[in-house]
Amino acid sequence: CGIVGYIGELDAKEILLKGLEKLEYRGYDSAGIALCNEEGISIVKEKGRIADLRAAVDVTVCASTGIGHTRWATHGVPNRTNAHPHQSASGRFTLVHNGVIENYHLVQKEYLPAVSMNSDTDTEVIVQLVEKFVIDGMTTEAAFRHTLSLLHGSYAIAMLDANEADTIFVAKNKSPLLLGMGEHFNVVVSDAMAMRQVTDQFVELHDQEVVVIRKESMEIMTLDGVKIERAPFTSVIDM
Ligand code: GLU
Repeated sequence: CGIVGYIGELDAKEILLKGLEKLEYRGYDSAGIALCNEEGISIVKEKGRIADLRAAVDVTVCASTGIGHTRWATHGVPNRTNAHPHQSASGRFTLVHNGVIENYHLVQKEYLPAVSMNSDTDTEVIVQLVEKFVIDGMTTEAAFRHTLSLLHGSYAIAMLDANEADTIFVAKNKSPLLLGMGEHFNVVVSDAMAMRQVTDQFVELHDQEVVVIRKESMEIMTLDGVKIERAPFTSVIDM
């Protein structure tokens, strides 16, 4: 299971698909990508191999922001519905997640009693909660941080907001996730190896940190919104 994300100036889909192919060794049962441009967010997901996903991707969609996922199912059978990305009720928020949300049922009962879920995953509550708190008046960043502060368990997360095509929201707790930096682009990835073809500059992420990624900036912060400065390191993995 793994996550990739790209935001920059190039065509995201090929970078994401190549990244997912490099993460295949981690094992998975389904895969998906979400591409975001000014027209909106388009999602493709499939049970089975990355090759099946690649065959299903619309080559005419051009986007320079996107996220991708390989799933190793923990909650809900492996099928297309339960494959990531997952979307909020209105379709505004789109999210991929690795890990397990232990208290998903409790938060769902407490905060989302009226929202009908589309999947059987623990993941979907995350994206539905973000939308709920945005509807309640929070900014996307505040809603994202607030949602994470309510969750128990492990997560590596990348999220898109259709109203902010130039941003990827990222979070990590007890699941691997790294940031990668380049000239006029940034990436997020479970394993440096999967983005080593585009950069050798990476930034470590610690547990319970959130990142707002744009093509020219990466803002790391705590779940309370306190900013964190961290220098990149050079990856020495051979290509
Ligand atoms: N718990 C999530 C699910 O079952 C994510 C699994 C994973 O890490 O791929 O969909």
